[in-house]
Amino acid sequence: MKPRKPPLRTCVGCGAEADKRTLVRVVRTPEGYVIVDPTGKANGRGAYVCPDVACFEAAVRKKRFAHALRVNLTEDDVERLRREFERVVDSGRDDSRDGR
Ligand SMILES: [Zn+2]
Repeated sequence: MKPRKPPLRTCVGCGAEADKRTLVRVVRTPEGYVIVDPTGKANGRGAYVCPDVACFEAAVRKKRFAHALRVNLTEDDVERLRREFERVVDSGRDDSRDGR
């Protein structure tokens, strides 16, 4: 059996391709809310971002979320997403201690 290639997705912030499991998914739910989806399994249209706030900010600045998700994001939406994003990124950092 050949090892399967990991599913690649493009970060909407920097444009790099990465294994979708390492990226953070932002999804527009069928109800029209935009949320950060730490499970990667929520229903709806998704956009992927590196687990890096710089990429999140770049995506916001270039209006990539609005484009990818086909929604208008208000300042409040962006604020809320940023907090959710930071929480998800922080909780995923357990294994990056450099072996020290
Ligand atoms: Zn990126």
